Amino acid sequence: MGEEGATTVFELLRPGRGLLLLAPGDEARREELRAAAAPWRDRVRIATAAGADAEAGPAALLVRPDGHVAWSDGTPDTAPGEDLTAALERWFGPAALRPPRPAAPREAAKVTPVTAPAREVRGGGTDRLAGRTALVTGSSRGMGRAAAIRLAEEGALVAVHYTSDGAAADEVVASVEKDGGRAFAIRAELGVPGDVESLFGALEADLLERTGSTDLHILVNNAGVMGGVGPADITPDQFDRIFAVNAKAPFFLIQRALRNMPDGGRIINISSGLTRFANPDEIAYAMSKGALEQLALHFAKALGPRGITINSVAPGITRNGNPVFDIPEAVEQMASLSAFNRVGEPEDVADVVAFLATDEARWITGSFVDATGGTLLG
Ligand code: NAP
Repeated sequence: MGEEGATTVFELLRPGRGLLLLAPGDEARREELRAAAAPWRDRVRIATAAGADAEAGPAALLVRPDGHVAWSDGTPDTAPGEDLTAALERWFGPAALRPPRPAAPREAAKVTPVTAPAREVRGGGTDRLAGRTALVTGSSRGMGRAAAIRLAEEGALVAVHYTSDGAAADEVVASVEKDGGRAFAIRAELGVPGDVESLFGALEADLLERTGSTDLHILVNNAGVMGGVGPADITPDQFDRIFAVNAKAPFFLIQRALRNMPDGGRIINISSGLTRFANPDEIAYAMSKGALEQLALHFAKALGPRGITINSVAPGITRNGNPVFDIPEAVEQMASLSAFNRVGEPEDVADVVAFLATDEARWITGSFVDATGGTLLG
């Protein structure tokens, strides 16, 4: 069995969803059926059968969660996807999600030197996240922005969360839409009383309007604040603020998001390389990120039975809007810390986030992913 990595139809049906099983033969027909079924991906898994025997039967089977075959392909005078759509509506209800956008043409493959930014081509997503919804906190700029754009390129409907810069969030949404993706902006300050309910109130209203459901498949806890105060000078209020935004808010966002998250969901927490390299001026920040990393370990065990994965991604020094990145000498010095002799680009980290959000990363959970570009390897 291909795509979702399971070996039997029984295993693929186990989460209680339907299954569209595609035969390996006719690739064009397979793509038509896959596109027709994409709006039901929250209720119907799509997998390709493997083996010569699979090519002998119908081009596709739609299997109900109880194992009964609800529909099979192969009637020559049937319009592509038409019968399948009717069967999907009959057994799984109306399409909650709009069909995926057509894949934008990719540029001819280029060999990319390791010293160049990892991603220069926009609009080249592969729709691996078609039919999914995602929330990226703090995605008005920096790595959150890049992650929101990247998830949208893969076909997800993305909530672009911000707190102070609505114009920047609107620009991210416009950028996504320009490339044929879907996104909307929501505002909520994190680290203050009522933060999570405020965010989810806005999120659920928008999801319902756009998809007919409040399902949230992917949560990226990216918003964070640094300290820049040494251990001798940091005040209790500063310490509390850093922990409130970087550790407490993600915990309660996860707790709340699990009400909306279908089985097979994805949670990705953006930590920092500073949990591995010392910097006394960021001691409280590093402590808060250490606490954040614990979420992945312990939640992973609790969420395994639901097929939900949770992982930490730790960036190193990564270009954001900070003016320090406009000073060539400073950039050169920061670059020298990486094995690749450059600072990270937001897209370097966004690609890791996008991978962890896909089905390909289904076997990775409770894990710490170093995305520091080989910082301080010795
Ligand atoms: P950034 O440019 O500093 O942007 C931070 C984002 O978080 C913005 O969208 C901001 O919203 C939002 N945000 C900040 N405080 C918030 C609050 N209290 N409530 C709600 N939203 C808030 O981000 P970045 O440098 O790309 O960093 C992203 C993540 O990576 C952070 O968790 C950071 O700790 C971590 N990290 C960064 C680096 C680095 O070198 N850049 C290295 C390691 C780890 P507004 O713009 O609307 O205010």
